[in-house]
Amino acid sequence: MDQFNPRMLVIAREARCFGQAELAKRLGISQGALSKIEGGVSKPTAEVLDNFCKELDFPTGFFQQSGGVHGTGTEAFHQMYRRRQALPAKDFRRVEAQVNIVRMHLEKMLSAVDWHPGIEIPKWNIEDFGGSAERTATALRASWNMPAGPVGNVTQLIEDAGGIIIMFDFGTKLVDATSFRYPGLPPLFFVNKGLTGDRMRFTLAHELAHMVLHSDIPVQTMETEADQFAAEFLMPARDISQSLNRFELRRAALLKPFWKVSMGSLLFRAKTLEKITDNQSRHLWIKMSAAGWRTREPEELDIQIEQPRFHQQLVDLHLKTMGYSPAEFAQMLFSNANDATTYHGHGEQPYQALRLVSKGFSIVQ
Ligand SMILES: [Zn+2]
Repeated sequence: MDQFNPRMLVIAREARCFGQAELAKRLGISQGALSKIEGGVSKPTAEVLDNFCKELDFPTGFFQQSGGVHGTGTEAFHQMYRRRQALPAKDFRRVEAQVNIVRMHLEKMLSAVDWHPGIEIPKWNIEDFGGSAERTATALRASWNMPAGPVGNVTQLIEDAGGIIIMFDFGTKLVDATSFRYPGLPPLFFVNKGLTGDRMRFTLAHELAHMVLHSDIPVQTMETEADQFAAEFLMPARDISQSLNRFELRRAALLKPFWKVSMGSLLFRAKTLEKITDNQSRHLWIKMSAAGWRTREPEELDIQIEQPRFHQQLVDLHLKTMGYSPAEFAQMLFSNANDATTYHGHGEQPYQALRLVSKGFSIVQ
């Protein structure tokens, strides 16, 4: 029992969306007793620990993991959720707990590999770019040697730069994504599985801005900056400007498949680059609403959803190359089999040559 880590109990409880009082009741102990255990004031008896495992459906090992927990309440950490304000507190804690759990899974899986990205996601100070998020985006495109014009695949760019993208079921539409740097890990990007292809790309570019500009200290302007960065990153003013002349919705529909951004993003861009007046912009948004396109743009213009590869390769490394059975895999993660499948899927994806060399194993093919 020496190794019992009370913070893991809190994570397990929140991941299952239990309040403290509710869990205490289910366990047949007082809330005070549970609170003391969670606060590290007292240790659970073997029987109580056993009940935690049963009630919360985590193996004993889960509660004995050391290591930090990150969240809004801790330091050494900075995490942002797109649209988090609208999320009820209880859901927010659940999401944060689940993200923590998956982060710990990734730490375990990554211990089997050496990860050497050819380039990296830098940490920059916006003041070095005259306080301009757009100029930061231009500089990143240049430092990554990206050609002019649309970004072919945002996901691949981020993965090539050493980021890990996890397609995640947040259990809500209110969160698009979250990203963070955690000591010893590559930058992690959790993206809502339910996003359309264009929204996923914009969201990733937005999160990329956070990783470049806001990894250390959150600033009040960071959401605006991230959107400005994303717009310039995906639609560089220099390259897109001319095609936004005489902008109207038909033009947006034509440009969408080429730039792989939403018609809405193009409309914003046209406005930012002063191709349309305030009045024209308002008028176009009204037309977008009337057509129902603010909620869902026409399906025939859908942008293909980008598929992250690295997460799947990590899973395949264990299940295929190293021969873990699904049960052993779950055990290694201190997880039940159901959670392991939910978080990591077991879908087939073709291997791609990647700069990933595992210790004693090569999965570069
Ligand atoms: Zn953000």
